[in-house]
Amino acid sequence: MRAAPSHLVYISVFFLFHVYRYKRPPSKVHNMASQTPALPQSFSPGTDSVFSDQSGFYSLDSNVPGLSKVILNKLDMKDYGEYRTTVQEKVKGFKFQNYKDMFQRMEETFQFCTGCKKLPEHLTEGQSLKRCVKCLNVYYCTKDCQKKDWSQHKKVCKTLRLVAIDRLVEWLIFTGNLPLPTEKWSKPAVEVKNWEDWICMRGDLTPHLDAVIADTNMETIWKNVSRTRPDDADLRQSLWRLQSEFLSRVLTVGSAVQMCGLDPNTKPLTVHIAGASHNETMGARLTDFDELGHMFPEHEGIEIVMVGPEVVNGPILRPPLKAFGPRRMVFISAYKGLYHQFWEELVEKEEAAKPDLVVGFHPGFHANQGLIEGWLPTLLLLRDYDIPSFFTMYSEMELTYSLQILQELEMCIKDHGPNPFTSLKPEQVQASPNKTPVYCNSHYVFFQGLNQQEGLEDPLGDN
Ligand SMILES: [Zn+2]
Ligand SMILES: [Zn+2]
Repeated sequence: MRAAPSHLVYISVFFLFHVYRYKRPPSKVHNMASQTPALPQSFSPGTDSVFSDQSGFYSLDSNVPGLSKVILNKLDMKDYGEYRTTVQEKVKGFKFQNYKDMFQRMEETFQFCTGCKKLPEHLTEGQSLKRCVKCLNVYYCTKDCQKKDWSQHKKVCKTLRLVAIDRLVEWLIFTGNLPLPTEKWSKPAVEVKNWEDWICMRGDLTPHLDAVIADTNMETIWKNVSRTRPDDADLRQSLWRLQSEFLSRVLTVGSAVQMCGLDPNTKPLTVHIAGASHNETMGARLTDFDELGHMFPEHEGIEIVMVGPEVVNGPILRPPLKAFGPRRMVFISAYKGLYHQFWEELVEKEEAAKPDLVVGFHPGFHANQGLIEGWLPTLLLLRDYDIPSFFTMYSEMELTYSLQILQELEMCIKDHGPNPFTSLKPEQVQASPNKTPVYCNSHYVFFQGLNQQEGLEDPLGDN
């Protein structure tokens, strides 16, 4: 078994902190903080489930014992079961006291000694965790722990400084300041091959970014956190990194469409996002893929269907189209469940269109048994129905493991490599901050159908 990618859990927990608001009286907050609720056996996170956050929790605890409990505590949840229910059922009226409280709780989930992994509750009297003054991201129990750790930490300290800014600025996605509004493309899609081309086509973003920097929501962040406001240049770059993360998904789908040789201008297009998780569906809006419409301005209708057991309730959770979508419109729908179930329940009964392309963002099936078992029927289905499939990974290492699995399944691998539309926002591995940060959609693999090459020598060939 390979190590589960624990950044998965950081991402979904982060969303909870921002999307759900806390409403319990303050006295209870203090009580909660001093208690450590036990995880009932039945809800102990393991690696045997199809939920990527469950293996994320498991991996948190294997790196920093007790960290998953700290996170659940800060969210006022008693166990992983409650966490899952909350993510699934969008609990109403869940409210933090105020922004200070929200940002504080989030920060506290990062508070453990990076050197010896001690949590605050395990410190001896008089000890307190001190933050690295350079990155303002990681903590140490003693000078000694910090000294010993520096040879490792110095490799990532600069990047972790950016991560610490981004995780606060990311709140502006929930306030609606980000992403920036989409605009018409001034160039055809084939000429926009990477971020440089995209920026060149879109024009200077500085006035748009500066408007966000001047907004009261930006002020709210720095009034409520325990650090000083970075300068405008830092904030501008952070906003751009967050914008790139949002756009990365859309542009990755657009590149996949082109790579598969599909032409949305000649026929309507159905794209399924298999294994869609919180990342794509929590707080998702019906307009999230509009950039795709600008990429192919003459298109005959594009439908995006998000499918996955971790799909979150919201406006996009509506049935897929039975007939072709309206021309020049990007229509998003979602289905909560495993992809092969969706196929049996809707596609086979012609309640949903067959896909021209299936995209998977970080399926993570290389990570552990539960995830590969959940993915296996889907992978075989994609292979046997000969569907063009385009999956992304967080790192080159994940790509290597994923390729091995796809090859074992005798998939025909058409292409793979670094994704020109990778997110530019570094992702910290929460429980192992010194691990090299990863990037959403940093690598991709394009595969389709069965690999015919092996063992199929041309029977008529010369001896
Ligand atoms: Zn320590
Ligand atoms: Zn540092």
